[in-house]
Amino acid sequence: MSAPDVKTDSRQMLARLREVMAEDSAGQARLDTITRLIAEEMHSEVCSVYLFRDEETLELCATEGLNPTAVHETRLKLGEGLVGRVARTGQRINSPDAPSERGFRFMPETGEEIFSSFLGVPIQRLGEKLGVLVVQTKDAREFEDDEVDALEVVAMVLAEMAELGAFIGEGAALTARHTQPVLLRGATGQEGAAEGHVWLHEPRVVITNPIAEDPQREMERLSEAVDELRVGVDKMLAGARGGGKEQIDVLEAYRMFANSKGWMTRMQQDIARGLSAEAAVEKEQSTARARMQQVSDAYLRERLHDLDDLSNRLLRILTGQGSETGAEMPADPVLIARHIGPAELLDYGRSLKGIVLEEGSVGSHAAIVARALAIPLIIHAKRITTEALNGDHIMVDGDQGIVHLRPDDTVGTAFRDKIAMQAAAQERYASIRDKPAETKDGTRLSLHMNAGLMADLPSLDGSGAEGVGLFRTELQFLVRNQMPKRAELSELYARVLDAAHGKRVVFRTLDIGSDKVLPYMKPNDEPNPALGWRAIRVGLDKPGIMRMQLQALLRAAKGRPLTVMFPFVAQFEEYRAARAEMDKALAREHVLGHEIPEKLEIGAMLETPSLAFAPDKFFEEVDFLSIGGNDLKQFFFAADRENERVRRRYDTLNVSFLRFIEGIVKRCEASGTPLSFCGEDAGRPVEAICFAAIGLRALSMRPASIGPVKNILRRVDLGELKAVIDAAADSGAQSVRPMVMEYLRNEGFAT
Ligand code: PEP
Ligand code: MG
Repeated sequence: MSAPDVKTDSRQMLARLREVMAEDSAGQARLDTITRLIAEEMHSEVCSVYLFRDEETLELCATEGLNPTAVHETRLKLGEGLVGRVARTGQRINSPDAPSERGFRFMPETGEEIFSSFLGVPIQRLGEKLGVLVVQTKDAREFEDDEVDALEVVAMVLAEMAELGAFIGEGAALTARHTQPVLLRGATGQEGAAEGHVWLHEPRVVITNPIAEDPQREMERLSEAVDELRVGVDKMLAGARGGGKEQIDVLEAYRMFANSKGWMTRMQQDIARGLSAEAAVEKEQSTARARMQQVSDAYLRERLHDLDDLSNRLLRILTGQGSETGAEMPADPVLIARHIGPAELLDYGRSLKGIVLEEGSVGSHAAIVARALAIPLIIHAKRITTEALNGDHIMVDGDQGIVHLRPDDTVGTAFRDKIAMQAAAQERYASIRDKPAETKDGTRLSLHMNAGLMADLPSLDGSGAEGVGLFRTELQFLVRNQMPKRAELSELYARVLDAAHGKRVVFRTLDIGSDKVLPYMKPNDEPNPALGWRAIRVGLDKPGIMRMQLQALLRAAKGRPLTVMFPFVAQFEEYRAARAEMDKALAREHVLGHEIPEKLEIGAMLETPSLAFAPDKFFEEVDFLSIGGNDLKQFFFAADRENERVRRRYDTLNVSFLRFIEGIVKRCEASGTPLSFCGEDAGRPVEAICFAAIGLRALSMRPASIGPVKNILRRVDLGELKAVIDAAADSGAQSVRPMVMEYLRNEGFAT
């Protein structure tokens, strides 16, 4: 294979760059030499390197052609001027007449007014923004494509220079990188505090030779590696042939990327410009990651993830660095990843102390699994994968969404105090584990736990839960890469019932759609998936899956009592239709001579406001109801539960919402329908006692919440609390929370 023809002398530029890097100079002197060299090779009067001083500030760190006294003096905010714009967007700017460009910022100290043309490209490494490389000329000319490409290639090599940080001014923010304490903020995925040592899910591939010594040889290396990659993908495909069609579709998409001519050509061109094969792959990967940060379409993002994954595989083939780097997993691992699938997370299991993700969302599958395993999880922790190194000391504060990487002693001590306090509270909870959840004024509540994995079941005894109030069956579907078979499911449900030792388990039928997309099912292109084809709607429209699941449940019971609940029922008719499916399944089991459960309860989840207003007959017919507060709240307030901007805007203790729930309680009391509440709010102590005060008698929550909720319930007087709630509502307050909190404080509750 021969190198595609490129006109610029970028290869020569890189060859010279390599010489400079091999020389014995370092720091500022070396960067000065590099800017001089680039200016010469690009035939431009100016070449400047701006690097990030902190997340928001860029600093001129070296220049050829601008006023040298401006070096380490001139600073720009992200987005400010053309340089700031390149840094913010990660996109190049090529302008023959920079001063007339939107956002141009004149910096007199640099003496730059005499330069007309401007070409700026980002210096970035795998989505991590490091700075901006700029060339400028006096003539008003637009740089040609080849020149732009050449500058991008050089920027790529600069990004790989290990000591790039050394060029940052006296403050040396980046020099100290990977040794100094760092505090990163993210969002809470699962509460809890953890201390441990970093374990990178995908250790970074280290590129030691970004510049090609022999482009022809690099072309061959790339081509051999891509061949190996393709063979690997074909093998995966062959292995998946017996599986679901959707899984094959995903792998086909992989194969399409692996065979993509455009991808290959771009990498070949970069090699022709002087990059090594691995640097060319990484440059493509950087571009894909930069795009990933800009696209909002979930499907497209997934495809970019595919491409990213393929690039990783290719890099590992080229460098011979497998996922196994020889590093040993610490005894107290805190997993760091950009994103991670639920199955991979389950592979790690409970060995993890904590998880920090750069991406992810509260409702993502990984978050669901982390919650099920009760591992503190922080999502949206920007820069964590680039800041953390294997083995770094790390503290994860899941309650606050804060990560302390390489914490100093003061932070460490404060954090350990927090963990100790939590441990003391756990001891208190353990001491009341076998006591009833009975309030001071004698009202008895029943507390159940939410589950979704076999791994949750041991908590049934440990937490003191009376049963499983919500078993989310979709987790078994989400963590697989093909549709589970009936026999598998039946066996699993039977094991759940075995582990429950006669305690009641409420199996919720498959709740997919919206944020829960099965990896082997094509996503529906719906503009509002939360309001779309999900849960019972899918079950009724595609009864095959629902029937299979109902049969699996009936068989799993082996004659024992069985409780099944349908999610997201919005009207009576849906419940009737689903129940009719159950009746049919039951009749079939009968005909087949299989054992029938001695007792069968069929309930519905109340997750849409419409169901609260269903005919009386519905309340009479349904065996029980469970309020899915997570969904109910999002529809009541019309506020997306996944959208960080609006998620916390409306308080659960808002008077309207409490009144609404109270209305449901009253209707259930009138019809004698057993009612429980199984959304996340049931596990929040203050919310839980308010629910109890307005009449709820059964709550289902994460196992870890049972202790704190029971503890507060046993100390509260519900009659008094109800009076406080009513007074707050009568006062016209928006939420009863402030008055409830004041009451609790006055009563000596630690709040
Ligand atoms: C709910 O909506 O409150 C609920 C319990 O179901 P999920 O969170 O699984 O949608
Ligand atoms: Mg729900």
